[in-house]
Parts: sequence; structure tokens; C-alpha cells
Amino acid sequence: MISKGISAQNIADAQREPVVQSPTGEFIENNGFKFVICPKCKTKYKVDTDENGKPHITGLPDVDITEPGTQIYCLKCGTKFTIPEV
Ligand SMILES: [Zn+2]
Repeated sequence: MISKGISAQNIADAQREPVVQSPTGEFIENNGFKFVICPKCKTKYKVDTDENGKPHITGLPDVDITEPGTQIYCLKCGTKFTIPEV
């Protein structure tokens, strides 16, 4: 009996996404204000929406234009994460 190894299908699955995706911050709404929470240290950032409906955080530019959506670096822990579309 030959034990089952890693199949070709498993290798294909592992290699399908070469682009590393940033984690997405958790979105919350509180008293009409929108916030995104750093997935690592739970720092809260107030989210504004620009004229195109794209979410952004005032004072923090989109740091990765190659990745879809808006990414910021957390000011506290330096984690890059995506601001979810709302
Ligand atoms: Zn953080």
C-alpha cells in the first residue's frame, strides 16, 4: 500500500495566489461614524469617504497602490492592512 502524498491538485492550490494579500481591518460603525480596527493591535481609526465613495483615513495615504482597495500602515504596530469597502 502506497501512502497518499501531496497531490498535484494541492500544489496547484498553494501556488494559485502569488500576491500576498494584506489582512483586512474590522469595520464598525458607532454614532454615525465609521471606524476600522487594526487586525493586530486593535487600534481604532476613523474612516472618511472621499467624493468617489472610496474609504480613506485622513492623514494616512494609501500605501500600496498595487493591491486592490486602500491599505494603511498602523501607526502603533506598523501592520499593513486593508480598509474594507463600505
Ligand atoms: Zn496595529
